[in-house]
Amino acid sequence: MSGVWVGLETNNGELRSVAFEMLTAARRLADASGAQVCAFVWGEGAQDSAKALGECGADSVVVVELSGDASARPAEVSAALAQLAAEQKPSVVLLADGAFSRSVAPALAQKLSASFVADVIDVAFDEKPVFTRLPYSGKVIERVAPTDASALTIASIRPKAFEAAQPEEGRTAGVSTFAASPVAAARVLQDVVRAVSERVDLSEADVVVSGGRGLKGPEGFKVLEELADVLGAAIGASRPAIDEGWIDAQYQVGQTGKTVAPSLYIACGISGSIQHMAGISASKYIVAINKDPEAEIFAQADYGIVADLFEAVPLLTQQMRDM
Ligand code: FAD
Repeated sequence: MSGVWVGLETNNGELRSVAFEMLTAARRLADASGAQVCAFVWGEGAQDSAKALGECGADSVVVVELSGDASARPAEVSAALAQLAAEQKPSVVLLADGAFSRSVAPALAQKLSASFVADVIDVAFDEKPVFTRLPYSGKVIERVAPTDASALTIASIRPKAFEAAQPEEGRTAGVSTFAASPVAAARVLQDVVRAVSERVDLSEADVVVSGGRGLKGPEGFKVLEELADVLGAAIGASRPAIDEGWIDAQYQVGQTGKTVAPSLYIACGISGSIQHMAGISASKYIVAINKDPEAEIFAQADYGIVADLFEAVPLLTQQMRDM
């Protein structure tokens, strides 16, 4: 197999933990096939992140310099990666699954006549790269491999599906820069408003406290926030809480929301629909708080508390504070 590429974007000047998880996936493919891992990184602080990428498994690092126009970023990144890939012919390009990769990856695949495999949770090498994903709300395990071993596959990696690569003493990578050409792209004429939250990112959180229709209104989330503050957790929500306008759509967990894989998922006033469970099945422990003992979620939760959440959650918060 020729090169394994990893495309990485910094967030507020730093690499997200998914960057190091992708290096784990890339190294597994490269080590099994004798290929090299090349990391492409762009965004604020990209140059500063190059050293860490080398220590954690990249054989080489390319800092991609962009024009700085945020609305042209996906078009510039896909044009730059397409140009470099056409010259250097990697076998695999990995991107982090999310809104950005969903716009970059199909454009890149179209430019290079490559395949795109979304939301990958595992990789292996068996004469060809093999990508595992869980379509149909996780009801099916699908393993995808290119029909032609020399074909390029672009894959997006689900956050928290892999262990993060750790620095290895003495490991370094050669670092170069590539200046992306400005491209004609749709421009945002008004402001781009970014939701700012001091909490951990939902898809990367180790603990998630999530609420559903049982919260009865936006005030219910205040009760959850107190528990989340004590636990250092992210807040999540089921779809009805979003549809009712109780909380912003970025917090939705499930089939049409975010997929999470925390060590602990605390579901409060959530019934356990298949669409919600599709987004949380990779959680290590699920704790359900529901006043209905027959609620579907108890069949899948590791621990269940049959109680009114407005009594149980403040008690839990107090217990955790006192610990
Ligand atoms: P409900 O099913 O109404 O459950 C509320 C629960 O709260 C009940 O079990 C009740 O016993 C409990 N409760 C009430 N009061 C209290 C109290 N005081 N204390 C404790 N417990 C209490 N849903 C998602 O969540 N995410 C998705 O991504 C998603 N995508 C969808 C995609 C499609 C195509 C479709 C058709 C649906 C999707 N849904 C999704 C909606 C999904 O089918 C369910 O309707 C939804 O998950 C139910 O949310 P809920 O559990 O909060 O509400």
